[in-house]
Order: sequence, then C-alpha cells, then structure tokens
Amino acid sequence: MPVISQYLARLKTLDRYIGSFDVAIVGAGPAGMFAAYELAEAGGFKVALIDGGLRASQRVCPIQTPLERCTFCIPCHVMYGVGGAGTLSSGLINLRPDVGGDLQEIVGDWDKAQALIDYVDSVFLKFGAPDRVYEPNMEALVKLSTIAARVNARIIPIRQRHMGTDGSKKVVEAMTDYLIGRGVSLMTGTWALDVEKADGRFVVKTNRGVVEASAVLLAPGRGGAEWLAGILKRLGAKLDYGPIDIGVRVEVPYAVMEPLTSAVHDPKVSSTPQNTTIRSGPSARTPRASS
Ligand SMILES: Cc1cc2nc3c(=O)[nH]c(=O)nc-3n(C[C@H](O)[C@H](O)[C@H](O)COP(=O)(O)OP(=O)(O)OC[C@H]3O[C@@H](n4cnc5c(N)ncnc54)[C@H](O)[C@@H]3O)c2cc1C
Repeated sequence: MPVISQYLARLKTLDRYIGSFDVAIVGAGPAGMFAAYELAEAGGFKVALIDGGLRASQRVCPIQTPLERCTFCIPCHVMYGVGGAGTLSSGLINLRPDVGGDLQEIVGDWDKAQALIDYVDSVFLKFGAPDRVYEPNMEALVKLSTIAARVNARIIPIRQRHMGTDGSKKVVEAMTDYLIGRGVSLMTGTWALDVEKADGRFVVKTNRGVVEASAVLLAPGRGGAEWLAGILKRLGAKLDYGPIDIGVRVEVPYAVMEPLTSAVHDPKVSSTPQNTTIRSGPSARTPRASS
C-alpha cells in the first residue's frame, strides 16, 4: 500500500462544520488551482480549495537543501501541496498539446487544444512567469530528425517557457494570493478523507472538519489516485484510467546532448520500438470519472 494511503488511513475525520460552498475543490495542483481561478473570474461562486499539503512557499524538499538527501517526509513536499506535483521542479511549461499527454485528443481538435494551452500560458504570465519563450531551432531540428528517424525516434519541436524552481514557487504564490483575494477559501494541511452525497449535495469530510457543497471537483493528481479511485467507486461513478508517462533519466556527456539541446531547450524524443507494446495495469495509471 502506498505510504500516503497508510498515512490517510491513520487520520480521523473531524465533525466540526467548516461551511457551505457552491463548489468544493479537492487538490490545489494545477487542475484545482485553474478550476478555482476560472470560478473566481466568472464570479458569484463560493469556492473552497482544499489541499493536504502546504502553501508553495512552505514546501521544501530536503534534497534541494544542503542536506541533499530524501528524509521521506510525509506528506512528500514534491508531490503534495499548493501548486501540485511540479511546483518544486524546474518549472518547464511545454506549449504544445501532444507533450505530457494528448490534449488534442481530449478536446478533439489541435487548434482548440493549442488555444487552451496559450490561454493557460497567459495566466502563468499574468502571475509573473518570465516573458522569454524558447523557440525550437527548426533548421537544426530538420538535420537531427533525419538521424533520429533511423532509430524510429521523433524529436518534438516544442516552444517552451522556463520558470525555474524559484520562479514556479513565486508564480504559484502570486496565483494563490490572487485566489484568496477573489474570495476563494484556501484550506491547507486539510486532507479530504471521504466524500458523501446526500439530498443532491456533497459532504467532504476532512481531518479539519466538514465542508458542504453543491458540487465537488476532485483533482488529487497522481499522489491522490488511489484515494480518488476508492471515492469514485463508493459514489457509484464510472471509472476510466488515463495513460501514464514514464520518465527515464539517462545521463550522457554534455557533448552528446549539445546538438539536441541547442536545437530545443529541453528536448523530448518520442519513440515506440517496433513490435513493442507498452502496457500498464490500472494501479499504475491515474483514475478519472467518466460519464
Ligand atoms: C518531479 C516532477 C516534476 C515535474 N515537472 C514538470 C514540468 O516541468 N512541467 C510540466 O508541465 N509538468 C511537470 N510535472 C507534471 C505535473 O506536475 C503534473 O502533470 C501536474 O502537477 C498534475 O496536476 P494535477 O493538478 O492534476 O495534480 P497534482 O499536481 O498532483 O495536484 C494534486 C494536489 O492534490 C492534493 N491532494 C491529493 N490527495 C488529496 C486529498 N485526499 N486531500 C487533499 N488534498 C489532496 C495534493 O497535495 C496536490 O497538491 C512534474 C511532475 C513531477 C512529479
């Protein structure tokens, strides 16, 4: 059983009544934060944004301190907290629908997906993301693509914005302050342990009290996948599993990567070896409710 599930199993729900909301969002990662942002911009909604982790400015991974090693924090600051799983990363925003998922397949159209990405990017800019966009060097890429094609690989020409680890935290903090300023009730250190539905309303039971809402949006990310699957099953929602991307770290001398990194800032090479099918079981993939 994952460490976080063992941790959640030890927590108790508190009967204290916190309040009644139009929308309760569980998870303040990018999905939850952007949902809260859209509701705040639309206006007229009382929104609760619930996260088990801490605010971005309070999230510190011991690996990124002089200690430079994992001390197995529970919850892990890399995975949990406002801003979500990528907040302590290098903060690279890939401005292309088919990187990190296939948004064009979900929305059914490449241009529509690109327009959504551009909109999300404009929100990052609004909250202080750096102006610079790294454009792919297409001339260099065409040459390298010929070599890549020989091994059935494709170099993806991506436009990228790079926030950096400190930059990501600052952007997330600025967005968090904005949401609070627009009336969103942010509850950190608050773990949603159960979600019930009664008389057409939802009750989110947490370790800090009970939140009532007309609608719930469960966005607990990869770190809350197992919890989400259990809740969706109990609520009788149909489950569907999203695909999984597996990152593999390969260290090579600078000279080997240099032609590629001078063509694309942070290159992504896609390859499915012939005669190979990559599969994963449901436990490795992220569940989502489907209609
Ligand atoms: C190390 C790392 C580096 C990454 N780098 C990048 C990058 O550079 N660029 C990029 O585009 N993507 C990156 N990603 C991927 C990106 O972080 C994810 O795609 C994104 O965070 C998913 O957003 P989400 O809102 O769905 O979920 P998450 O970001 O996982 O957010 C879910 C939130 O829900 C909270 N939560 C979970 N369960 C509960 C519960 N029961 N009660 C209350 N709160 C709960 C968690 O604390 C968390 O804050 C990276 C991911 C990792 C792990």
